[in-house]
Amino acid sequence: MTRPRVPRRVVVAVALATVGLCIVVFGAVAVRGAMLDRSDTASGPTGGLRRSDTSTSAATSAPDVNPTSTGVPTTSTSSSPSSSAPPSSSAPPSSSAPTAAPAPAPGGALAGVVIVVDPGHNGANGSHGSEINRQVDAGGFRKACNTTGTAGGDYSEARFNWETAQLLVAELRARGATVITTRDSNDGWGPCVDERGLTAARAHAALLISIHADGSSAGNHGFHVISPTRVSGYTKATVEPSRRLATHVRDALVGAGFSPSNYIGSGGLDQRGDLGTLNRAGVPAVIVECGNMRNAADLAQLRSPDAQSRLARAFADAAAVFVDAG
Ligand SMILES: [Zn+2]
Repeated sequence: MTRPRVPRRVVVAVALATVGLCIVVFGAVAVRGAMLDRSDTASGPTGGLRRSDTSTSAATSAPDVNPTSTGVPTTSTSSSPSSSAPPSSSAPPSSSAPTAAPAPAPGGALAGVVIVVDPGHNGANGSHGSEINRQVDAGGFRKACNTTGTAGGDYSEARFNWETAQLLVAELRARGATVITTRDSNDGWGPCVDERGLTAARAHAALLISIHADGSSAGNHGFHVISPTRVSGYTKATVEPSRRLATHVRDALVGAGFSPSNYIGSGGLDQRGDLGTLNRAGVPAVIVECGNMRNAADLAQLRSPDAQSRLARAFADAAAVFVDAG
């Protein structure tokens, strides 16, 4: 049997067509990558704001104050968030190959969106007094690195923050977000408040949510959401979007059945200029005081896994609304 001869001109034409197709495919991939680059940073409206954020590509070392920061819950900092599209948070390293689609996760509402979750304080802060009392730049003024946080009986605020943060991380990842946490255990100390904020700045995150609970007089109850006030040189670009984010969080919490504070702010919203986490974030950021741990009813709620799940879902809902509508 002899194969029919293929004219050489046909062979050349096929070869050229193949090369052309490769170029087209490569070009499409490159364009897609560029588009994702823009969308990755578009939600961080604060490009010119950061003072000490000159090393924005050094996200891998962002939470280094925390000696265990490279562990489990902190994800996707292995690739520079400012470069190509963020890989899916739990995917193996091969998924970051430039030709791979950015693997939108199920749900997709937050696909590719970088969100920093900050569980306030840390479980062993109390036994690291010298480290915790070190003064840091909290937004043009010096402030202690961190505090122990409050407690309700034997239930510490650090633990509440940690437990609720874990639920929020899972909720956000289920919706496709790339989540970075500022600490990855509840048995260490720190990081300092400036590093918590800078973690979001370095990652060019779309937003930062910091989870806390308050320790006020026993008769006070309810949550409040804190956004930054204008702090010269630090928050000019973040005051307004943070306030909008705070409003979305407030609305979601009310919708989930939580009551606004009866002792701070107005309608569950407050603004402060003395919080390093907010001042150093460089991106829209809020601190949520989820309730008063010195109030019996609030404490019972804060300890409840059901309430913690509802808090996490409400935060994720608010993040989705903010990413979608600003
Ligand atoms: Zn706190």
